[in-house]
Amino acid sequence: MTPPRPTELAQSLLRDTIHEGDTVIDATAGNGHDTVFLAQCVGDGGRVLAFDLQEKAIQATRHRVKAAGYSSRIGLFNANHATMAAHAAPGTVSAVMFNLGYLPGEDHAVTTETADTRNALAAAATLLKPGGSLSVVCYPGHPEGAVEAREVEAWLTGQCNDGWKLAKYAILGTIRPAPFLLAARKPD
Ligand code: SAM
Repeated sequence: MTPPRPTELAQSLLRDTIHEGDTVIDATAGNGHDTVFLAQCVGDGGRVLAFDLQEKAIQATRHRVKAAGYSSRIGLFNANHATMAAHAAPGTVSAVMFNLGYLPGEDHAVTTETADTRNALAAAATLLKPGGSLSVVCYPGHPEGAVEAREVEAWLTGQCNDGWKLAKYAILGTIRPAPFLLAARKPD
């Protein structure tokens, strides 16, 4: 058994919790891999709301989703994920996925930032249904990513006081701090 990458594990954990017809959110659309995965999970009657700050990422996601035949299931927003609460009603979303950091192969200066990520997590927590799932892949291997990863972990750990369940998964034995997954469940 090869231990899965955090991004792979995020998808396999969410696959079991998303049902046909659900509304879900991809907070960081990037190249659209997670958006296509979510579109598969929600089926024809479901909806994926996908956000990215970069027009290039929105185009890449639109292209990938179209190639997969899922365009009708997607709402794409060239917008900060901190604005997600403007696009769904509280308590209506089954899952929210974050894959933090920058768009692979593009300008590394355009990366997720701690303050926006914190605001987006708070919005996600409100939008999620009772029992809804939240996944966040963090990248502590560079200085800003390390600060952001610490804040995200601390914020989610604080939610445990309100009954959230939280787990952390990371590959061990790497030279630089490795990406890790935080997987959380909102209480019923
Ligand atoms: N999930 C993507 C996929 O499957 O291809 C990969 C996401 S990539 C690691 C992170 C993305 O977050 C980048 O495309 C970046 O532009 C986007 N991003 C950074 N800050 C953002 C923000 N405040 N709101 C929305 N997207 C943001």
